[in-house]
Amino acid sequence: MHIHPKITPIYQTSVFKFEDLTELEQYFGEPGSRYMYSRNGNPNSDELAAAVNRWEGGVGAIATGSGMAAIFAALAACCQAGDHVLCAADIYGGSSSLLNQELSRLGITVTYVPFEQLYNVGQFVQATTRVMLAETISNPLLRVADLRRLAAECHQHGLKLVVDNTFATPVLTRPLELGADMVMHSVTKYIAGHSDVTAGVVVAAEPEVAARLKQVSVFYGLTLSPMESWLAVRGLKTLRLRVREHSHNALAVAEFLRQQPAVREVYYPGLPDHPQHALAQEQGAGLFGGMLSVLLADEVEVVNRFMQRSQRFPFAPSLAGVDSSLSYPLGTSHRYLTPEQQAELGISTGLVRLSVGIEPVEELLADLKQALG
Ligand SMILES: *Cc1c(COP(=O)(O)O)cnc(C)c1O
Repeated sequence: MHIHPKITPIYQTSVFKFEDLTELEQYFGEPGSRYMYSRNGNPNSDELAAAVNRWEGGVGAIATGSGMAAIFAALAACCQAGDHVLCAADIYGGSSSLLNQELSRLGITVTYVPFEQLYNVGQFVQATTRVMLAETISNPLLRVADLRRLAAECHQHGLKLVVDNTFATPVLTRPLELGADMVMHSVTKYIAGHSDVTAGVVVAAEPEVAARLKQVSVFYGLTLSPMESWLAVRGLKTLRLRVREHSHNALAVAEFLRQQPAVREVYYPGLPDHPQHALAQEQGAGLFGGMLSVLLADEVEVVNRFMQRSQRFPFAPSLAGVDSSLSYPLGTSHRYLTPEQQAELGISTGLVRLSVGIEPVEELLADLKQALG
């Protein structure tokens, strides 16, 4: 019997069989010819890694159990005890927690670079600085980094640039083409896209880095499961369509919110008065993504009333699903920063982050209108 499934089946197995020692030698002698043990490689996780690798234009990728595992793998691939990392100050809260609370224990130190100084990092670089971590579009204030400039600045100082491309997705921006050395995603977000998977991926621009990533993934056991990989591959097939709809809806929502008296500020790179609007336009292929943040009055009751009233934007502290949601940076992703750091980043009581889904946009606007009313 010949079975030719169009779609890769789920290889829900932890281990693979060998007929004899010849086959075992084949496994070690011809990489990619067979599978042995799912922590080391599985057809489903390899399919996901290869698909994102293709999207991002890399030379090799790994799929990991979460976006955090992806950030860890990217940093562990190029740092050891005694090394120093530069990190954009506008960064996902989990990334700074990983650096501050865990990598510091392994002897890897960090300096945060304010947004205004991203292209002039000389004063922050030490003899042991290896790498810079930054986001294409930052969380939660949607600041856009000029990746070509940032990569040039990093390389001038002998640093690798790791880009967290979770918010932008490769539909908007492909960081490796702009000079980045690694690009990573929380696959949990747009890549999988349906709020039903936790996963990550890291893509490398050079074969030696790809090999380091693979080793880190296997030895630390960062591997993604077959089922999660399969779901993410399924989601990825509609990435281009979804991100277009997310972007169109988010632009309409941003324009609408800007006119509401209860809204003090809207942060969205698609608005003409956003400080990096021109850069976002050029670097994002004319799309601006599905994420935006709004500043309401800095009062807990105002925020609570908005959350309680909105029907189409449930408070769910994640993002990028096909269904809209909202989150609250001060109480979730940026909870563990000091009050000074929160204030510096502009994360205040009234700041609410919207993840705009792909629903009919009139329904979203009507819901926001009544929630703010
Ligand atoms: C969610 C997120 C992460 C972490 O990914 P997990 O899948 O939650 O581990 C990293 N970076 C950004 C920008 C994120 O939004």
